[in-house]
Amino acid sequence: MKRHHRLCLCVLIFFGLLFATPLFAEPVTEERIRAEVIAPYSLGEKTETEGVWELLNGSGARGGYVIESEWIKPLPGFAGAPINLIILLDLDGIIIDVKILNHNEPIFVSGLGEAPFRAFIEQYRGHSINSAITVGSGYGKQSSSGSLIYFDGVTKATASVRVAHESILSSAREVAKTMLNGFSMVQEKVSLKGDEGKEFTWDELVAQGLAKHVTATHGEVRALFSDTQWRSDDPFPEAADDELFVDLWIVDVTHPHVARSVMGARMLRDWESFNRIAPDDETILLIEQGVHGLIDDEFVRNTAPPLITANQDKFPLSIRDADLLIDLKQGVPDDGTAIVVRLDRRQGFSPVRAWDLGLIATRQRGILKPEIGEVKLSWSYQADKQFFSIEKPVQPPTPFEAAVFSRMTDLMILAGLLTLICLVVLFNRKFVHMKSWPYQRTALLIAVLGFIGWWGQGQLSIVTPLAALVAAVSGKPLDFLLYDPFSLLIWLVVIVSFFIVGRALFCGWLCPFGALQELVAKVAKALSIPQLKISDKLDSRLKSVKYIALLVLVAVAFFIPRQLDTAVEVEPFKTAISVFFVREWYFAAYALLCLLVSLVVFKGYCRYLCPLGALMAIGGFLRLSKWIKRREDCGSPCQLCKVRCDYQAIKKTGEISYAECFGCLDCVDIYEDKTQCVPLILQEKGKLKGSIHARNAAQPIHFKPQPQA
Ligand code: SF4
Ligand code: SF4
Repeated sequence: MKRHHRLCLCVLIFFGLLFATPLFAEPVTEERIRAEVIAPYSLGEKTETEGVWELLNGSGARGGYVIESEWIKPLPGFAGAPINLIILLDLDGIIIDVKILNHNEPIFVSGLGEAPFRAFIEQYRGHSINSAITVGSGYGKQSSSGSLIYFDGVTKATASVRVAHESILSSAREVAKTMLNGFSMVQEKVSLKGDEGKEFTWDELVAQGLAKHVTATHGEVRALFSDTQWRSDDPFPEAADDELFVDLWIVDVTHPHVARSVMGARMLRDWESFNRIAPDDETILLIEQGVHGLIDDEFVRNTAPPLITANQDKFPLSIRDADLLIDLKQGVPDDGTAIVVRLDRRQGFSPVRAWDLGLIATRQRGILKPEIGEVKLSWSYQADKQFFSIEKPVQPPTPFEAAVFSRMTDLMILAGLLTLICLVVLFNRKFVHMKSWPYQRTALLIAVLGFIGWWGQGQLSIVTPLAALVAAVSGKPLDFLLYDPFSLLIWLVVIVSFFIVGRALFCGWLCPFGALQELVAKVAKALSIPQLKISDKLDSRLKSVKYIALLVLVAVAFFIPRQLDTAVEVEPFKTAISVFFVREWYFAAYALLCLLVSLVVFKGYCRYLCPLGALMAIGGFLRLSKWIKRREDCGSPCQLCKVRCDYQAIKKTGEISYAECFGCLDCVDIYEDKTQCVPLILQEKGKLKGSIHARNAAQPIHFKPQPQA
């Protein structure tokens, strides 16, 4: 069997073994969820929302909810698949616990292991989902400041933990909005201003808008019932359409200036003691003079009045009777029904933003088993800001902002290094003239390996484009790309560079594993280790293997995504760069093998197997110009550059095969060097003897490639 056939077979066997393993992780069963909910809590009934169960407390009462994040917010993780977490949330919006159900994050599947991931999510325990929480980078500690709470990130896994962070908070907040009665997101912190002993007359309260008058006529109520089966069950058939059904005053009496203006002495005393017990409650006086009447027969004091509702930002608020006996001051309308209701500001209610007060109008059909029909009348109300101090809430930075701020120094150094390398590649002809050029290149490779690779964790991987492709095809968000700005910056520069130098900028300069292989090859040369000669024919066939590897990975990503984290192990990057060989022995052995191959076959992994390199070569087709200078003599007759190109990226014709060119600039160095480039040498000789052109015209030169003197 030919050698390249053998290599193809090895690749196919690798993926064949991969496919032979169980294809999908077990789906999460209810039993699994139940097992994750530990005493004193237990799993209750499944709710109508998929992925949400009731959480029962020790006494069996509903104490919150159990949320499976994949159902609520399936944010793609670093490997494309969502990180599935279970979140235990109590009725006040406090996270009781978070646990990992399953995930495909490569760095946690194998590499760092799950322990740091578990330690990260433990930080959420006891925190409100209303808290302003941001995740540090793990590249240096940050302490919580003011109302902003910093959680420690995980070094080498910053993107994955940020995806987990978003999954936890956005899933819990989504469920809280719809299922925690009275819960809404805090917009601002509102506290009462001090009592200056002021008092207003009723007319002044009305004139200042502190007492708001709202109405609804019988005609309006009839219109609301007109399309229902209760259209002819009007309990007030004689009332004219323009007669008032609701004649309501709404007064926010939370501030003493207003309370003192409307309450009699006894009621004011009760209200003051109520305020001492519940200082965060907003108290609203409602006086209804129409026929609605505010309460019904089922009303129980100190509970939620069945006929009154409140909403803010489209979310229901918990409204309760404040249990105050009504004793209004003279001049205040007292002809009808009055009640003081309470709204809790701690649950996110803000009195200084518009909220809706609703009254339910009911009708009934039948006598023995009456069918009740309801319509809702509602009015917008807002307390006067003069009585409140308003503190804007601390907004946590977006995940992208947090990621950028936490790695600002690294990003600045990276920007400097990228600029330098881009300048070298763009102005390559100037740089190769420098005597120190070989040392400069080696120094840059070491900087890339050390800073971008080992320190900065900026080794690009085929995992990212695969995850982005799968997310884009399935219509999922691509936000996860923003969670690692260090790699994102490199990706952006590399994509732009495709148009100018093809794959060369990344593969020749910015890939830490590529740099590591090149450094190994330099050691081999220094030690005079003999190099394996790969014939042009075999070389060109072996080069196609990396495209097969890429194709197989794309297929795995789409058809068996749960195997992707195993399949991408064809890249030794995680082992050699992310975790510096501290892994299971077989991963470390594979990465070492790739490096050992480099001792005898120059950058063998890069040239023949790397799926990311294949993708870079495909991206390189966007290249707009032939950026490496060639002479007419290149290829015919001179073959020096071809012979010297370690990547075998120069054709016999002298043409550059840009898909395989890593931009090492060795051929540019030869091209510019009067002591190496054969036509230049001859030109120099010709100058000595006269015009080389005249000589060439008279006697064409034939020469063979010459080893360097
Ligand atoms: S071929 Fe692969 S390992 Fe080599 S430099 Fe390119 S991306 Fe890096
Ligand atoms: S020597 Fe080969 S790989 Fe290096 S720049 Fe020239 S063609 Fe590209």
